[in-house]
Amino acid sequence: MTSYVFITGGVVSSLGKGITSACLGAILEARGLKISMIKLDPYINVDPGTMSPFQHGEVFVTHDGTETDLDLGHYERFVRTAKGGRHSNFTTGRIYETVIRKERRGDYLGATVQVIPHITDEIKRSVEKGAGDADICLVEIGGTVGDIESLPFLEAIRQMGVELGHDRVVYVHLTLVPYISTASEIKTKPTQHSVKELRSIGIQPDILVCRSEQPLPLEQRKKIALFTNVQQKAVISAYDADDLYKIPGMMHEQGLDEIVARQLGLDLPPADLSEWDAIVEAKQNPSSEVDIAMVGKYMDLKDSYMSLVEALQHGGIHTRTRVNIHFIESRHIELQGTECLRGMDGIVVPGGFGDRGIEGKIETVRFARENGVPYLGICLGMQVAVIEAARNLAGLKGAMSTEFNKDTPHPVVALITEWQTGSGQVEQRDEASHLGGTMRLGAQPVTLAKGSLAAQSYGATQIEERHRHRYEVNNNYRARLEKAGLRFSGTSVDDLVEMVEIPGHPWFLASQFHPEFTSNPRDGHPLFTGFITAARHHHEGVLPKVREA
Ligand code: GLN
Repeated sequence: MTSYVFITGGVVSSLGKGITSACLGAILEARGLKISMIKLDPYINVDPGTMSPFQHGEVFVTHDGTETDLDLGHYERFVRTAKGGRHSNFTTGRIYETVIRKERRGDYLGATVQVIPHITDEIKRSVEKGAGDADICLVEIGGTVGDIESLPFLEAIRQMGVELGHDRVVYVHLTLVPYISTASEIKTKPTQHSVKELRSIGIQPDILVCRSEQPLPLEQRKKIALFTNVQQKAVISAYDADDLYKIPGMMHEQGLDEIVARQLGLDLPPADLSEWDAIVEAKQNPSSEVDIAMVGKYMDLKDSYMSLVEALQHGGIHTRTRVNIHFIESRHIELQGTECLRGMDGIVVPGGFGDRGIEGKIETVRFARENGVPYLGICLGMQVAVIEAARNLAGLKGAMSTEFNKDTPHPVVALITEWQTGSGQVEQRDEASHLGGTMRLGAQPVTLAKGSLAAQSYGATQIEERHRHRYEVNNNYRARLEKAGLRFSGTSVDDLVEMVEIPGHPWFLASQFHPEFTSNPRDGHPLFTGFITAARHHHEGVLPKVREA
């Protein structure tokens, strides 16, 4: 029988509710429990796949190809048993879509369809389905208590508390406890008000997680407990940590997992957090460091590359390397040239849509290739590597992806329908219209060529990785590109290009898939470990072993 922990947030947004939920999942998992995790998002979009990274950060893709909120990425990185998918992320839009479909089908037998009970029932059904067979399902409710949008979700979780009882449901509320420097005072009032708001809709939190800059003094804990009707020991101080991976330990030390276990009547073995301790230790004691340039669009919006940034850090953890990431706008390279790439130990071109800065990305690849700087290309980063090789190695002038120039003389990257028919018929599209049903999404098997850098990195010739793209390398150009020096070292079941590399270059590897979605701090990921190792060699001036051509 699954128990539930509901996590709500108050006072302000961006308090790190996703991380807090993931860390609570991690410490409960460390006590031997099977955990599932769900995110409920109060916006009307049916899924985050269509949302601008400006507003919403990265779209995280799960194994089954669902485009989800980036918090699902935190869950998978922190909790091994929580495998996200279609049933782990629900938006208001998706709930309404289901209810309206049912109404059209006549499922409600002519009843007046209302927020309570029809929407709330659908929310409860979705949560129960998403919980699966886990011992504990953690459900994070997006938004801030007091928002109009989140009310149906809060009402649904209130009802679940009544229906399942106090020994199967725990309410955790995350708030901000600000420090007002002019008065030199820590202020508990916003937390009091936020809990008051929550109680006015019928939810009494069992646990408060209070975000603050410094550890919360006992006096403030007492005050918060008194005013919010929460036990003092259940007022947890989540003070700013210099390292994300210290948070599970910080929460465990304050007994968060034990409070949950007690309330749910679970008798559990002690938490084994040794893996998290090892990560923190490795991060604090690097034996070298590397400078990595990440060249793309939205470089001032780090959230749009959340999983990639994390995965690079995981590569650092597993090689004891401090990874300094330099975010460079590809437009900058177009205007100022590649000078800013000098001194870098590795270069990454991440995934992306739209043509802004595309020439800068192509120039970046050229710089990495010609100067023997380790290169990791991801999705669009692989496509630009193919374009660069086509132009500068194979001499195919004007080679391009039809995503950016539908009239290119050499469509080395194009929609499958374009390169299979050779019709050159390209529909008009704008930046946002990559959206829709034609994306290749989710985990798919990839075969790696024996003896390739790809196979060597993975230590396998059969792998599975997640996709999110529409365009493919044009197979009609493969022979010519191969002759010019590009190796197609990974292919899909239907013979689409999945990985390319350049034999003879110290480390040049690019993938059509997104390896960052399957990297986590404890296990790392072979591509990122390999890339950071190569960058380290570059940094230390170790002569690159020239790979056989
Ligand atoms: N825009 C490219 C495509 O749709 C690459 C997508 C990506 O990098 N995720 O194929």
